[in-house]
Amino acid sequence: MLSILEQRPRFDLIEGATPIQRLTRLERSIGCSKKHGIYVKRDDLMGVGGGGNKLRKLEFLVGEALSQGCDTFITTGARQSNHARLSAAAAARAGLSCELVLTDTVVRTDEAYRYNGNVLLDDLLGATVHRRPNGADAMVVAEMRRAELIAVGLRPYVVGSGGSSAVGCLGYAACAAEIVAQEQSLGLRFGRIVVPNGSSGTHAGLAAGLKALGDDASRITSFSVLAPLEKTEETTRVIAEQTLGLLGQNYAFGNNDIRVSGDQLGEGYGMPTDAMFEAVRLVARTEGLLLDPVYGGKAFAGLISAVRNKAWQDEGPVLFVMTGGLPGLFAYEPAFRAGQNNLYHRS
Ligand SMILES: *Cc1c(COP(=O)(O)O)cnc(C)c1O
Repeated sequence: MLSILEQRPRFDLIEGATPIQRLTRLERSIGCSKKHGIYVKRDDLMGVGGGGNKLRKLEFLVGEALSQGCDTFITTGARQSNHARLSAAAAARAGLSCELVLTDTVVRTDEAYRYNGNVLLDDLLGATVHRRPNGADAMVVAEMRRAELIAVGLRPYVVGSGGSSAVGCLGYAACAAEIVAQEQSLGLRFGRIVVPNGSSGTHAGLAAGLKALGDDASRITSFSVLAPLEKTEETTRVIAEQTLGLLGQNYAFGNNDIRVSGDQLGEGYGMPTDAMFEAVRLVARTEGLLLDPVYGGKAFAGLISAVRNKAWQDEGPVLFVMTGGLPGLFAYEPAFRAGQNNLYHRS
């Protein structure tokens, strides 16, 4: 697999492997047995644009755009999309123009959601933003922009929400190899690898990578934060197969390989849950680590629940992939203020 990955065009956005760290104080606070332990892979620690999981995909997407001689990077997302912000950052770094089609899919109308967080950063990073109301088809707008730019002699590269094309997902196939190598040097094997599932590319890429290595994709559990369970399973399976195809292998993933939970979705994408508020606060206060409210907070709430219920206790150590999204905390400041058990209410 690694030799196939090496032949793909890739634009450097990440300095080496991201660290894996153990969370012993958190383990104690949620009653995790000392035998196995809970670890995080710090995919939030990357040097461009504030960092996050989309940079792994963007290495391959921007690499392909440059190899095709493109000059403009176009993508889509929700108003507070981390992928949009990191696309703007990666494009700036690569000397490409960036156009973002952002839809108001989340019904939050407060100032923080509309202007802070990723929205502020998209502007600082120099992206051209096309805003559309809830219900608009962002890909249709993106394709219109593609046609308009081609008509004036430019060369656009278009990728959909989350950058979860098969090419983008190669970034997480490479991450699977990185995790397996780190397991060898740490002298352990993770029984569960936990990720949030939005556009499904993180889970799908990891699954394709583990499969290509002859490893076990069912070690991954993702928590859907966007679509209902069955739709998320299906999308993850399809993209995993396409990504594995790029790695030169044919395989039909089944439900036993692709494990998704819908338990943390709550009322839907970008809608806070009490379990998310608790997870974000607990990880911050026990470990000094910052999860985001839309993805990591919900997925970590799923991990906490599984550990408390002793659902994974015989499976070995657990690895949670921290996927970034810190700017989302600022966009959700009013939600944290209104949520339960918070600092504002204590004084
Ligand atoms: C996009 C995103 C995810 C989900 O990744 P997908 O590949 O879209 O499933 C998780 N965490 C953060 C912070 C993200 O921005």
